[in-house]
Amino acid sequence: MSAAAPPVLNPPTIRPTPPSGGPGIDYQLFLDCVHCGLCTSACPTYLELGQEADSPRGRIYLMRAVTDGRLELNAEVRRHLDLCLDCRACESACPSGVQYSKLIEPFRIHLAKAGPVPNRLRWIERFLLFHVTPFAGRMRALLAPARWMQKVGLDHLLERIGLPRLLPRSLRQMHEMLPRLKPHYGRLPEILPAEGRRRARVALFTGCAADAFFPETNLNTARVLQKNGCEVWIPPHQVCCGALHYHAAQEEPAQRLAQMNSEVFSASQVDAVIVNAAGCGAMLKDYGHLLSRAAFSRDSQKSVSTSVPAAGERFAAKVRDISEFLIELGPVKPQHSLPLRAVYHDACHLCHGQQIRRQPRQLLEMIPGLELLPLHETEICCGAAGSYNLTEPEMADRLGRRKVQNILQMNVQAVFAGNVGCLLQIGRYLRKEKSQVWAAHPIDALWASYSGEFPKPT
Ligand code: SF4
Ligand code: SF4
Repeated sequence: MSAAAPPVLNPPTIRPTPPSGGPGIDYQLFLDCVHCGLCTSACPTYLELGQEADSPRGRIYLMRAVTDGRLELNAEVRRHLDLCLDCRACESACPSGVQYSKLIEPFRIHLAKAGPVPNRLRWIERFLLFHVTPFAGRMRALLAPARWMQKVGLDHLLERIGLPRLLPRSLRQMHEMLPRLKPHYGRLPEILPAEGRRRARVALFTGCAADAFFPETNLNTARVLQKNGCEVWIPPHQVCCGALHYHAAQEEPAQRLAQMNSEVFSASQVDAVIVNAAGCGAMLKDYGHLLSRAAFSRDSQKSVSTSVPAAGERFAAKVRDISEFLIELGPVKPQHSLPLRAVYHDACHLCHGQQIRRQPRQLLEMIPGLELLPLHETEICCGAAGSYNLTEPEMADRLGRRKVQNILQMNVQAVFAGNVGCLLQIGRYLRKEKSQVWAAHPIDALWASYSGEFPKPT
């Protein structure tokens, strides 16, 4: 496609009766786009590349043209669609309410089925992504040697002799993303009592990768909830939210996980299901839609009862991000001073996916001594985006560097974000810059201020 010009395609036809089917997209969703282009300046790939075909408007045009049969699904079209981070910044920017994710996600499933798929994931990456990462126990086991090496200082030694440089590219990237791992809390009791008068009963979704990389955040979330008068139920049989699979066009495994979580969390009455990772939260809140696709999928081998999407809807209606829930509840004021200059990065699946912007800032602003400064391009994706780091390393790298430059410009001591992927990606590029800036979840700061236990620099 030529730079800064719309893809040269036949003009779209206005259809009185929109065709259905095709790549499994509700055709009406295409018609919501009026081609105004107000979304382009919010799109990270357009900001980096300046090409219409790498903008939301360009991609909608391409997907519709393929659906209409006006454009062949060739490698160039695939390339523009693969580069999309599914960050949903275009949805926030769009005045016409275009639901871009409901276009790109089913279209990607169509792309995967249409083949041949240019496979940018090696077998080891696929194995780690789909057979290790979604299982909290396997992730903990995988990270145990790394945690031990960090503890005894062996990682610094290996770094000094340049061993990580000999690793294959993908493993090197994973190594670079590894944060300083805190000790895992082990197994928490299934029920944690409320501190003082009980104000709510909640379930805690602990996730898989987030729990392995940042166990302290789950522990701090549970403690913050208790401190705020919540009895916390931690269902032991909960599973991965399915986001990794879904965003990699593996819809059926994602649907199976959604069905399992809907059942597990319905076993006990709760006021809310609490999640502290934006990517998981956005996925959990979409279970009704995900499971309705299972019920009506023409490709599905086994028939799925229509009670399944209803259970998914009921579950999704209870899901709350921790910041959203605490602000609704009325948070207990933190007492201890945490004297930090800090910025807050808006994780895409929190600000664009769930429209949560104000609540994490409100929690941070309650902390005595913490000065929250504005961050330039705070809503532009940091390049983490699930497995995007592995599938599109060059663009992920550009966006990671861009984000960290914006953070460093503010001369801060801390950056907060409500998503594990963002914290891994931002941490990686801060370390590349030899920066000591603390990258953490807002809940870690809130717990520090409640407890007076300040995190030690690592
Ligand atoms: S989801 Fe993000 S990367 Fe994709 S088109 Fe929208 S703004 Fe651009
Ligand atoms: S997605 Fe929305 S903002 Fe972007 S071109 Fe279409 S109508 Fe305009």
